[in-house]
Amino acid sequence: MSSYQPNILLIYTGGTIGMIKDPETGALKAFDFNNLLEQIPELNLLDCNIETVSFEDPIDSSNMNPEYWVKMAEIIEKHYDDFDGFVVLHGSDTMSYSASALSFIFENLAKPIILTGSQLPIGDLRTDAKENLITSIQMASLQKGGKPVIKEVGLYFEYKLYRGNRTTKINAEHFEAFESLNYPHLAESGVHLKIEYDDLYKPNTRKKLVVHKTFETNILLIKLFPGICKSILEPMFEMSHIKGIVLETYGAGNTTSESWFIELLKKTIKRGVPVINVTQCSGGSVNMGQYETSTQLKTIGVISGKDITTEAALAKLMFLLGARVSIKTFKTIFETSLRGEMT
Ligand code: ASP
Repeated sequence: MSSYQPNILLIYTGGTIGMIKDPETGALKAFDFNNLLEQIPELNLLDCNIETVSFEDPIDSSNMNPEYWVKMAEIIEKHYDDFDGFVVLHGSDTMSYSASALSFIFENLAKPIILTGSQLPIGDLRTDAKENLITSIQMASLQKGGKPVIKEVGLYFEYKLYRGNRTTKINAEHFEAFESLNYPHLAESGVHLKIEYDDLYKPNTRKKLVVHKTFETNILLIKLFPGICKSILEPMFEMSHIKGIVLETYGAGNTTSESWFIELLKKTIKRGVPVINVTQCSGGSVNMGQYETSTQLKTIGVISGKDITTEAALAKLMFLLGARVSIKTFKTIFETSLRGEMT
């Protein structure tokens, strides 16, 4: 057994995991992070050194936004050389969005950033918080040949580690709250930790870490539904400050083929506003041209999100617009997997 003890930074941003019940109202609210450690003396038994840092004002992750993403990223960036791995405690509601955003923020990441949280507060008798937290720290501590095993942004919940930018929150009550429908899980916790080495992301570790901090938020997410109409959609698409649109389409990327709709998309794309096609289905991929109803989309230059999640598509769009990727190359770059977010 090696005597080296990895150094892990635990970052508390908020969420149920560190919440307590307000005795007066019964509502859950964030509490002091130091209490969280008091609740889990087991942390002292782990084979690693743990240091902690907390958001001054922890948030319910429903209040998450790109400014907080950058705040998390800057904590990690500041401590990147001094720690072997990072565990981010985060509310589950928007955890998949943050995991996606962090994956784009950190180019050439060579260390683990594991997001986790819980469905029940840490103080609750039946809590899922302890297992999630302890195993996340163990996952972040895994080393092989003196190097971290996981070199990507992961999300750990209810015995499984997933690639963060492949996840979606699928249940508001079950302990098994997340799924990664288009990519296998990276590790599973049972009697042993079972790592799926072949599925882990393999970055070019010779390249230097680059931290991207600009996100463009003037974007739209539109979910198609039977009956969606021109009078509502047109003014939104024509807003002068719109920089990009994610369209959640049917099945394998199909939309209504009504001419007003296709014309509207065509005009928008001509104006230099990228339109991304992602599927409303939880699993599977966009395949424009498979049906007649998506053939026109391909012709007018709609970008295929392939099998990306909506969460990752939004983060990628904000990131690429923030990075001022030129309109000429935008489609090619979006359709390329940058951090393992699409197949
Ligand atoms: N509303 C909480 C949050 O996302 C739920 C949770 O922590 O799971 O912050």
